[in-house]
Amino acid sequence: MSAAAGCPILAAMPDRQPLRPHTKRLVADDRRFLWHPFTQMTSWMEEEPPLVIEKGKGCWLVDSEGRRYLDGVSSLWCNVHGHRVKAIDRAVRKQLSRISHSTLLGLASPPSIALAKMLVEKAPKGLARVFFSDNGATAVEAAVKMAFQFHAQTGSPRRTLFAALAEAYHGDTVGSISIGGMDLFHGLFTPLRFEVVRIPSPYCYRCPEGLDPPGCALACAARARAVIERHAERLAAVVIEPLVQGAAGIIVHPEGYLGAVADACRRHGVLLIADEVATGFGRTGTLFACEQEGVVPDMLCLAKGLSGGYLPLGATMTTETVFNAFLGAPASRRAFAHGHTFTGNALACAAAIESLGLLVRRVMPTLKGTIDAFKGLLAGKIAPLSHVGDVRSRGLMGGIELVRDRRSREPYPPEERVGHRVTLEARRLGVIVRPLGDVIVLMPPLAITRKEMGMLVTATAAAICKVTGD
Ligand code: PMP
Repeated sequence: MSAAAGCPILAAMPDRQPLRPHTKRLVADDRRFLWHPFTQMTSWMEEEPPLVIEKGKGCWLVDSEGRRYLDGVSSLWCNVHGHRVKAIDRAVRKQLSRISHSTLLGLASPPSIALAKMLVEKAPKGLARVFFSDNGATAVEAAVKMAFQFHAQTGSPRRTLFAALAEAYHGDTVGSISIGGMDLFHGLFTPLRFEVVRIPSPYCYRCPEGLDPPGCALACAARARAVIERHAERLAAVVIEPLVQGAAGIIVHPEGYLGAVADACRRHGVLLIADEVATGFGRTGTLFACEQEGVVPDMLCLAKGLSGGYLPLGATMTTETVFNAFLGAPASRRAFAHGHTFTGNALACAAAIESLGLLVRRVMPTLKGTIDAFKGLLAGKIAPLSHVGDVRSRGLMGGIELVRDRRSREPYPPEERVGHRVTLEARRLGVIVRPLGDVIVLMPPLAITRKEMGMLVTATAAAICKVTGD
């Protein structure tokens, strides 16, 4: 498509005025005292000053200069209903007036009880117990240890091996990076990582077998099955991000893949750990991604959207069968010796209860329409651009893969930082998006309006055009 026809021209925000003294002080202190995650701090200190987000309302973030930005990545994929949602604010305040935190080691608490009950009611049938932790990585870490101990205590001590997808991402603790398979993030730490067998990632745009669905007859699922069969006797569990591998670049799995992996696990007595940290809570169109292929995993890892994106909270759900394997006399040492200080934090659970209620009552009934609108916008405004190699989405998880040459699928050289430059350009147009390499991720709060969605996609298209010279 020609540039004139394809590229929206948007008025950029007026050039940034000299920063207010208040912002200058904040930026100076940030650069002096903080170490930001996944950030080359040399660039952070040399590039244009960061936005300092002071406030939020709905799907918008407000910086220390009073400028508004659309939160196109849900504050790192966790925000569900927007910011400062009255009902969630009220629930947290109400809990604050009672108690902010008490331990679950040896004591119980009403918010954790109510939330666990609610999760069991809403999750795929069969997941009957909830183990709380603090975030996504700890939810996965707990699942991995649980699976290991389960086999040790049910007469299968040889089952100590884990399988996971190539390019998997499950968080940054040492256990989670062992399961993770992204060389960029995890390669350096290999001497610290335990052995994991890899299943090739079902990445249709760059299929290792050069096939396309549906003609491929899911050759990737056959490969997964073969890996599971080959290691069947030693495998404790397969860990998978169901339907979409987020951090790998929003890799959307072909239909039937998850079901095939789950079947292979069942057949060989291998546990299935579904990491729904990113895909859970409506993100892919159903409350949990596993539902779309009728899969009930043995463990379901949750975080991010669990608290509506308000407060850190993780959960590992499991079946009564797994739970029962840990029962016994105190001296049997069968208990799960794992837990964190802030396990089941009362404020986070209060936010989660309110968020989950809102999600089921208010968001899920209209979510399909929002997703259809998103798909339509991606197809209409992004797919035709000449440096967009692939646009993929599932629910409200969208990935735009930028390439130098659309026909040959040749990527841009990494040093050109095309993805990064697109996000800076989008920011000038009032939209916050983030790149994963040269994949631009769009993942707005589920509560986004059609008008806001139009702005998000149009600004992203304009930013892509500007950077790629469309
Ligand atoms: N699993 C998945 C699938 C994720 O996407 C993430 C975070 N992006 C995590 C685990 C880790 O979650 P956290 O950052 O809360 O530890």
